[in-house]
Amino acid sequence: MKYEFAPDIQNIAEDVIKHLFPFINAGRVKCYRSYGSKAKGTIARCHALGKLMQKALGVQPFYPLEFISEQFDSLDNEDKIETIIHELMHIPKCFGGGFRHHNYVNEKNVEKCVKLYKMKKSKEHSKDFIQGINFQEEKDKGIDKGRRKKDSSKNKPKNNMLSKWFS
Ligand SMILES: [Zn+2]
Repeated sequence: MKYEFAPDIQNIAEDVIKHLFPFINAGRVKCYRSYGSKAKGTIARCHALGKLMQKALGVQPFYPLEFISEQFDSLDNEDKIETIIHELMHIPKCFGGGFRHHNYVNEKNVEKCVKLYKMKKSKEHSKDFIQGINFQEEKDKGIDKGRRKKDSSKNKPKNNMLSKWFS
């Protein structure tokens, strides 16, 4: 698995947070693209740092959102927005490190949030905001990419134990 920070998705996630989920600390949510996932049928995952992990490490809650490139990048903008909203909805109001589950993050509630977001955006933009979004993977990585590649050695221990996730 390879993870890359996804500034395009991050921008939209922050905009969604601003309009729909003001209780989310946008500075502690970070969006990544992952490559090489074997998971079939999973488009994205919301990861969290459990309470004890926070205590043990002496850190505040943090929610990395993972967007599986092989699934996410082929979606149209409508579905991308819906996926971003879905993942953000897993973050509870208390922003404590837990998850809201699919009894809340269900089709009906996600649809409601998508509608509300579109409504708020249509007041700001005359054109269709969603169609106009240019989702793009970072292409220009130059020197940095090489460096990153070297650093990500394959025999690093898997740190999946550190984070719980919810797709
Ligand atoms: Zn979910």
